[in-house]
Amino acid sequence: MSKVLIVEDEETLARNLADKLRGEGFAVTTAGDGEEGLEKLRGEHPDLIILDIMLPKLDGLSLCRLIRRDAGMAHIPIIMLTARGTEVDKIVGLESGADDYVVKPFGLGEFLARVRAVMRRAPGRPAMQDELVSDDLRLSLTGRRLFKNDTEAKLSNKEFDLLVELMRNRGVVLSRDLLLTKVWGYDYYVDKRTVDVHIRWLREKIEDDPSTPKRIVTVRGVGYRFEG
Ligand code: CA
Repeated sequence: MSKVLIVEDEETLARNLADKLRGEGFAVTTAGDGEEGLEKLRGEHPDLIILDIMLPKLDGLSLCRLIRRDAGMAHIPIIMLTARGTEVDKIVGLESGADDYVVKPFGLGEFLARVRAVMRRAPGRPAMQDELVSDDLRLSLTGRRLFKNDTEAKLSNKEFDLLVELMRNRGVVLSRDLLLTKVWGYDYYVDKRTVDVHIRWLREKIEDDPSTPKRIVTVRGVGYRFEG
C-alpha cells in the first residue's frame, strides 16, 4: 500500500484530502505544521507528499527544498498546495523541486488526477488502478469517463463518483448515508433522496433495461449494491 503524508494546517481540507486518498487505497498520515511534517517524513518514509506552502513553524517551500537536498528523501514526489498566484510563481520560479502543484480552491477530482499523474511518473512506485471493469462497462478513473460497449456514456461528476463507489464495493450493500458521505462529503447537506435520484439517472445510462435494474440493485430499506 502506498503511503501519503499530508502537511496542511487547514484541518478541514487536510481531513477531506485524507478521506479521499484513503478511498483510493492509500495509507495516509497528516501533519499540521512544517516541523511536524519533517518529523513524520523521517519516521514514515511516505511514497508521496502533499505539501501546503503557508504553514506554521516551517513553510512549505523551505521544507520542499530541504527534502530535495536530503539523499534519503530527495526521490519522494511532492505535490504543493498553493493559495495565491504569487506562490505559484515561487514554486515555478525558484525551482523548489515540487513535482506538481494545485491552486486553492480546487476540486477533489482535479486533486486526485494530479496525484495519479505524479504517482504514474514516480519511478518504481506501484501504479494506481486506473480502470474499473464489469462486463461491458469500463470506467477510466484518470479520464473520469465511462464506456458501455466501448461507447462513451456521459456522466455528471456526482454520477461518476457514485458509480466509482458502487463498483469499488461490488457485491456489498452501501447505505444511502454512506453514499452521501462518500460522494457528497461530510459538510454538504443533501437529502437522502438525492442519492435515489442520482441512482435513477445512473441506471438510465448503464442498465440495459432501467426499469428492471441488474447492475445497481436496490436493497429495500438499506441502500444499493453493485452486481457484476
Ligand atoms: Ca496553510
